[in-house]
Amino acid sequence: MGWKTLDDMDLSGKRVLVRVDINVPVQNGKVTDTTRIDRIVETVTDILKAGGKPILMAHFGRPKGKVVPEMSLEVTLPALKAALGVPVRFADVGWDAAVATMGEGEVLLLENMRFHPGEEANDPEFAKELASLGDIYVNDAFSAAHRAHASTEGIAHLLPSCVGRNMQEELEALEGALGDPIRPVCAVVGGAKVSTKITLLSNLLDKVDHLVIGGGMANTFLLAQGHEIAQSLAEADLTDTALEIMAKAKDCGCQIHLPIDVVVAEEFKARAPHGIYAANECPSEGMILDAGPKTVANICEVFKQSETLIWNGPLGAFEIEPFGAATFAAARQAGALTDKGELISVAGGGDTVSALNMAQAIHQFTYISTAGGAFLEWMEGKVLPGIAALES
Ligand code: AMP
Repeated sequence: MGWKTLDDMDLSGKRVLVRVDINVPVQNGKVTDTTRIDRIVETVTDILKAGGKPILMAHFGRPKGKVVPEMSLEVTLPALKAALGVPVRFADVGWDAAVATMGEGEVLLLENMRFHPGEEANDPEFAKELASLGDIYVNDAFSAAHRAHASTEGIAHLLPSCVGRNMQEELEALEGALGDPIRPVCAVVGGAKVSTKITLLSNLLDKVDHLVIGGGMANTFLLAQGHEIAQSLAEADLTDTALEIMAKAKDCGCQIHLPIDVVVAEEFKARAPHGIYAANECPSEGMILDAGPKTVANICEVFKQSETLIWNGPLGAFEIEPFGAATFAAARQAGALTDKGELISVAGGGDTVSALNMAQAIHQFTYISTAGGAFLEWMEGKVLPGIAALES
């Protein structure tokens, strides 16, 4: 891999600028989910152990280059102190002085990077100002790596740089799933619309052996094949795109798996009257809200034949009962195979994480990316500027 890790750096006595993602949910002045904070502990602890002085840079909300007091990172201090178990100091202004007076074993948190217009503009002057605060730059925020901002990209060109533990784990998992995977590889792509995932589908065709298409987007493919889909969510203007994707898949030797049977409901509502139909026999008043049991059995069989799985998007309208059945059953099968050591499973995307959580399969997966936009751009095959800057 083309990037350095903390193990490649001499951190002793060095001021180490660490870009982290602690953009956590807050309610009534309290952090309500510390997952992102918990995930930075290893990096910060390792820097402290190596004798470095960790200076945390992060964003919080979207203040758009202005000081917005409600978006101050100070709110994260108690949770940070509790997670790290060491003194954490906060600097809203006067960053130079705060860095100069850092004590041994102490962590410094800088105020919201996005209070500064130079951050999102990737202004070279602001990047220089940040770089002057440290000797080494560590990027541990994969979820912000698709943005070329001063603290995620610009600064990497100005200091010796490496990835943090979080970013390292994420990159290794993602490389293992698509970069240099153990074959056969299966991708599951679901969700509402084809239009948001055309680039992603196209990128996967020559990388995976099996492509399972599910959710609302599968309806567009069924429509393209001439099937009646009645009231189902679909994008009629994208049927040609769907046919092109299927033709390209054939050329690439990628086998596409569409629903064989579907769960059709009378309306988009929890516990709406519903039935199971062959994928080409959707009743004229119904809407497809989930994949049927034969489709699930086929997907489970594909998982069994695969060594690696990459998953983004649900197979149905999983948020409303009982239309999560296919997603949950397939997730549990992937989880069980992973547990047995028969599958490497990587999943990402907000809805996917929440669906795997509901299936109670999330902890069995090899790796779950919570990165959202960065994960999708990576699946689309795009170069993430935050990572490219580290490689150079
Ligand atoms: P996305 O954000 O593109 O990953 O789409 C996720 C959303 O797609 C979820 O909110 C699902 O409820 C929705 N979805 C999945 N399958 C269907 C379907 N057959 N009909 C309508 N919505 C669906």
